[in-house]
Amino acid sequence: MSPEIINFHNFKQAIRSWRNLCKQAGLSIRSVVEIDGMPVLEIRSPTLGAKKGVYISAGIHGDEPAAVAGLFSWANRKIAVLANIPLLIYPCLNPWGFLNNSRTDKSGVDLNRIWGQADHPLVQVVSKKLQSIELCLSLNLHEDYDGQGIYLYEPGRGGRPDSLAEKILSSAESIIRRDCRKTIEGRKVKDGMIRPRLRNLPKEGKPEAVYLYENKGGRNFTLETPSEFAFHDRRSAHKLMIECAVNASGY
Ligand SMILES: [Zn+2]
Repeated sequence: MSPEIINFHNFKQAIRSWRNLCKQAGLSIRSVVEIDGMPVLEIRSPTLGAKKGVYISAGIHGDEPAAVAGLFSWANRKIAVLANIPLLIYPCLNPWGFLNNSRTDKSGVDLNRIWGQADHPLVQVVSKKLQSIELCLSLNLHEDYDGQGIYLYEPGRGGRPDSLAEKILSSAESIIRRDCRKTIEGRKVKDGMIRPRLRNLPKEGKPEAVYLYENKGGRNFTLETPSEFAFHDRRSAHKLMIECAVNASGY
């Protein structure tokens, strides 16, 4: 039987669906740390080795459910080939937030601003896991209440933008249009793409994406869908953008 698709804020169901999917796909799944008394799940494929890993995380902001659901939909569609992709997945990094529709964890901490704190339990677990792994791609999945369409961040490296950024947005434009704002969160946007410079980071703390880019290299994209749009469209948009990025990495 196919695993049940993930719906809004039902964490128990999400765990059940992922366990079922992992069993069918030949992936391992386990809880690696508890945040607010709830398990943070980690999924890895048997082909994950030292090189060319693909890292995908969702749900670090608990009020962005279509990111969590879109990741699951992608995996569910690729169930037959997932074991061949060297995956490291954190399907819901803020379980309490997901259950309670909260951006932050129970104590009000934004878990996407803690990545400069080596002693935070979440950072400790993920960084230890990544120590021996080189990534070719990392994707951080998000949603935005002010969003007017899909958009993405990629680290500004100077030089030419990565053409994959354009392809990722094009892949989902038939479902949700591209965000056409000229600035987002005070940053310049071009055709839905934001390339923040590393010296111009949020003052509150380091985001997961920056941690990954600084420490692991490879391509990094933060994918965003607009929270006020229909849930199933946002879920589909995430699914398509993940598919595009992973395919372009040769998997
Ligand atoms: Zn977010």
